[in-house]
Amino acid sequence: MRRFLSFNDFFREYFSGKSVKLSLDAGFSCPNRDGTLSNIGCIFCSDEGSGEFAGSKNLSISEQIESQKIFLEKKWKAKNYIAYFQNFTNTYGSLQSLKNIYDEVASRDDIVGISIATRCDCLDDEKIEYLREISRKKTLWLELGMQSVNENTIKLINRGYTHEIFDETVKKLKDANILFLIHAIFGLPFEDQNDFKNTIKYIREVAPFGVKFHNLYILKGSPIYELYKNKNFRLLSREEYIQTILYALENINEKTVVHRITGDPPKKNLFEPKWCADKLSVISEIDKRLKELDKDILKDDKIKNISTYWKEIDLAFSHKT
Ligand code: SF4
Repeated sequence: MRRFLSFNDFFREYFSGKSVKLSLDAGFSCPNRDGTLSNIGCIFCSDEGSGEFAGSKNLSISEQIESQKIFLEKKWKAKNYIAYFQNFTNTYGSLQSLKNIYDEVASRDDIVGISIATRCDCLDDEKIEYLREISRKKTLWLELGMQSVNENTIKLINRGYTHEIFDETVKKLKDANILFLIHAIFGLPFEDQNDFKNTIKYIREVAPFGVKFHNLYILKGSPIYELYKNKNFRLLSREEYIQTILYALENINEKTVVHRITGDPPKKNLFEPKWCADKLSVISEIDKRLKELDKDILKDDKIKNISTYWKEIDLAFSHKT
């Protein structure tokens, strides 16, 4: 049991048992990479569209699910599978192309939840309405790559749309009762602790279903690799990152589920910082510090209440017409 509301602890309660993600590639692209907005993409994005561990898009979604289940059943003895559409922008396409993928996944009994990574500028009203319908059949959440609330940083990382658009879309998702989680990166070029605190403050105010935090790392071959070599901005030390995460865990809303507290870079492409290649040691150091500080951000008995809270949101929604 972690001292904060972790993905594992929460979903063990929420879905009554161990839940594992199946990383699926639905073959979508991204407007920030295909030339519609830019050819470069967000400057930290890899060729795989930030989804290095996804299945092969040469297989159908059913085939990807079946092949990953065989492996994960042996490893985790899991019964609850979450279909995770991680790489690129998984609402970038016609409404029909979304239906072709998500209708089928939502109808499967072995899939308990659907997680869809996307951009706020690829969620028009029609798509939000469709996702609302899917949410009635299956627990569903969107993963939104915000990274920072600082407009200068957003321009520098070439995200391709403003924080205002992000905020407007988040409000629409809340109105539609669609769960979402926010990705934030600490240590983006030229940001300091004040910027991190502003990002954390926004996440607290929005109180999303979930968050994913990670440090900025430099992958060889990504656009930020060249920027780093030329400008040589400073990356966060391991200690600075851990201190930032401790602050973040204490300051987000207690009902927000922490899906990730550190990055998980593909080791073969990692340039700097080397310390983040050892994800488990960073996680265990964060746990150790929380223990030393006697920070029990989440009391064990709260998990049931919080799971009930999110379930009630699902249920309240499913009764809406
Ligand atoms: S939105 Fe996602 S897939 Fe598109 S460029 Fe940015 S990180 Fe890459």
